[in-house]
Amino acid sequence: MNILLFGAGGQVGRALRRALAPLGTVTALTRADREPEVWGDLAEPEGVSRTIRRLRPDVVVNAAAYTAVDRAEEERALAFRVNAEAVEAIARACADVGAWLVHYSTDYVFDGSGASPRREGDPVDPLNAYGESKLAGEQALARGLDRHLIFRTSWVYAATGANFLRTMLRLAGERDALQVVDDQIGAPTGADLIADVTAHALRSVVPADAQGQAGIYHLVARGETSWHDYARRVIERARAGGRPIAVSADAIRPVPTTAFPTPARRPLNSRLAVDRIERAFGLRMPAWTEGVDAVVDELVALRAA
Ligand code: NDP
Repeated sequence: MNILLFGAGGQVGRALRRALAPLGTVTALTRADREPEVWGDLAEPEGVSRTIRRLRPDVVVNAAAYTAVDRAEEERALAFRVNAEAVEAIARACADVGAWLVHYSTDYVFDGSGASPRREGDPVDPLNAYGESKLAGEQALARGLDRHLIFRTSWVYAATGANFLRTMLRLAGERDALQVVDDQIGAPTGADLIADVTAHALRSVVPADAQGQAGIYHLVARGETSWHDYARRVIERARAGGRPIAVSADAIRPVPTTAFPTPARRPLNSRLAVDRIERAFGLRMPAWTEGVDAVVDELVALRAA
């Protein structure tokens, strides 16, 4: 399988480099790749489609995205160019060369009302510009290309990159009290899990050209938590592993979302149902705690080394 990967330097992109390697040849591009025929910057969609037409991969995996949720309120045009216009251009080029396209989207396409897990076909209604741009990308992709897998995920973390887990570990070492939002509910999902499920799904659809399996899937870990309980688990796990932690357990205080006004509104209910992906690909999503504990242990061990 010849695979072209965009966004290879992000959390999910880095994990994909590992997970896709056994499937064949992976050409991994980042935003910094700006040779005319090997173009990885999605802010210029024409370069990206030229690259696909030239390399003619069997599969394109797009892990690149404009992910700065608050900044997107001001940089709306750039967010739409990267998250929607480039995705549309990628989909068209994939259609031209007969490639499958894997793309990632977000729980932020939903409005976060209620308390039940959203299913793939449930009505979408994003609360912020980032969510709107990601939704526009999903829609343009599905219009332009049959051979596609769109994986909606949430609360992504990894041992590298900018994420909540790493921020909490850092702050817990520096401060003696922390306030963490406790009224947004979702499932922290490891970049490794996303990459491994992607590789598994590709083995299932690409050799068989199984277009019946194309579509949108929710790809998140099982279970749910609040940012507050997630932070507590991360910090207590790290403390138990011997990492120096300044904050005491009872000084990790729950606060409502309204305590931290941000330019972009965030959904309170980020629950996504995973039955569809489990059934379609014969998988069982692990509990969110499994991947989180493993990454905390890895980070604690790295510091000890
Ligand atoms: P990251 O922010 O870790 O990675 C995004 C990558 O995209 C970065 O390497 C970034 O490069 C790159 N990128 C940004 N702009 C461009 C551009 N113009 N051209 C090429 N590359 C660009 O995000 P994740 O790995 O976590 O996200 C993967 C996918 O999952 C995305 O589709 C995202 O929308 C989705 N998602 C993520 C969530 C999360 O919590 N992170 C939650 C739900 C969905 P650089 O570092 O140079 O900016």
